[in-house]
Amino acid sequence: MTGIACRSCGSRHLELVLSLGETPLANALLTEQQLTQPEARFPLDLAFCPECALVQITETVPPEQLFSHYLYFTSFAETMLRHAEQLAKRVIETRGLGRDSLVIELASNDGYLLQFYQQAGVPVLGIEPAANIAEAARKRGINTLTKFFGTEVAEELHREGTLADVVHANNVLAHVSDLNGFVAGIAKVLKPDGGRKLGRAIGCGLQAARRGKGGRPRPGRVLRRVRVPGAGAEG
Ligand SMILES: [Zn+2]
Repeated sequence: MTGIACRSCGSRHLELVLSLGETPLANALLTEQQLTQPEARFPLDLAFCPECALVQITETVPPEQLFSHYLYFTSFAETMLRHAEQLAKRVIETRGLGRDSLVIELASNDGYLLQFYQQAGVPVLGIEPAANIAEAARKRGINTLTKFFGTEVAEELHREGTLADVVHANNVLAHVSDLNGFVAGIAKVLKPDGGRKLGRAIGCGLQAARRGKGGRPRPGRVLRRVRVPGAGAEG
């Protein structure tokens, strides 16, 4: 494939792995009135970058179109809630978090995870771009910003001194087009000894995290979970 730059290393030598043609957006169910109107479709092509091993789709759908009104509420999944509770408990213990700490979650959804930190007395900040879901989180008392996280938001938080001991990013990196900016933003909002937890950041997470630490991507390595120095990788 020519002309398309790799989301991680910028190489323009992506290799097409699978093409599923043009498809409507996931979960964008139509109302009865919309059935007679044309439906937006986007190419769904999967490509591999031989330079840095990142597997990625080639089309970037505007994030506002994808996430401004989202229908997936994580709290609907009972097993996910149990997992979130255990994860929060484990991180509080291993990192010794308390009332002077701060835990930030990127794409914090309806507060399914942060609620367990808050119940344990650890301050939290959620960042969630879907207005309807962020509102649900605020209703349950989770401090939540309705924003897309990236370098700009990270700069804002850094300037105002909102720095985290732990940053969670569960199932989000795979949805981000500016991988390097997103990970650089994480580094910006962490306290110097803070840790980040990137859950199930398939492939791309590994590359982005390493680049964010100033390291070079390692070709041929694809992990389901990310481990970077000074931090665990759990999701
Ligand atoms: Zn690449």
